[in-house]
Amino acid sequence: MMERLSVESFDKSYADICQRLKIAAEKSSRSFENIILLAATKTVAPEMINYAITKGIKYIGENRVQELLQKEKDILPVTRHFIGHLQTNKVKDIIDKVDMIHSVDSLKLANEISRQAIKKNKNIDVLLEVNIANEASKWGFAPSEVSEYVEKIATLDNISVKGLMAIPPVCNSGEENRKYFCEMYKLFIDIRTKKIDNSSMDILSMGMSDDFDIAVEEGANLVRLGTALFGRRL
Ligand SMILES: *Cc1c(COP(=O)(O)O)cnc(C)c1O
Repeated sequence: MMERLSVESFDKSYADICQRLKIAAEKSSRSFENIILLAATKTVAPEMINYAITKGIKYIGENRVQELLQKEKDILPVTRHFIGHLQTNKVKDIIDKVDMIHSVDSLKLANEISRQAIKKNKNIDVLLEVNIANEASKWGFAPSEVSEYVEKIATLDNISVKGLMAIPPVCNSGEENRKYFCEMYKLFIDIRTKKIDNSSMDILSMGMSDDFDIAVEEGANLVRLGTALFGRRL
């Protein structure tokens, strides 16, 4: 694992990102305090993650089970999310090590999360992943079926549905993805308006290093940033 940025460069990147988040939040009539900045920590060494935590990062997210398990014991207290594709047979390995799973993309996975959470006697927050651009290569529910799955998953024990997550086409520029962020926000509000039992639509997780300002302008309240905080992955 590489340490890609010096601590001084982290300080500068972090300050710049906070400033950009403030501006984007104000454009959408919200404030910086309402936006969660999650550090996507794949390939980042525990020492650097801990430095980021001492500087104010309160949420981190890993996207691979193996890497999460390798690093978790070395990381300071912080809220931990799982943000990558999760195989059903790996749920048991992470269930007691994360506070939220962003990437629920099937009923089968949700059932297993519920089963393992019951075993551990814990409650786990989840987001449903939406394949907003209908990409063949992407995980996630089709936009038209999300509401129905929120209803189904909300009935499972020891799971709380807290919102939606999306990864729009990675090759697009931020502006090209604006329409997808906008569609996600509409979907989020539509589902919130239905007030589905045992669910809440509090969190809209979208926006990465190349497009987070635009995602926030369009209504995101959780952005997942790797490169922008820690430098390019090698
Ligand atoms: C790596 C990753 C990110 C962050 O990507 P950057 O472009 O480096 O900011 C966000 N979300 C998920 C699911 C990721 O795997």
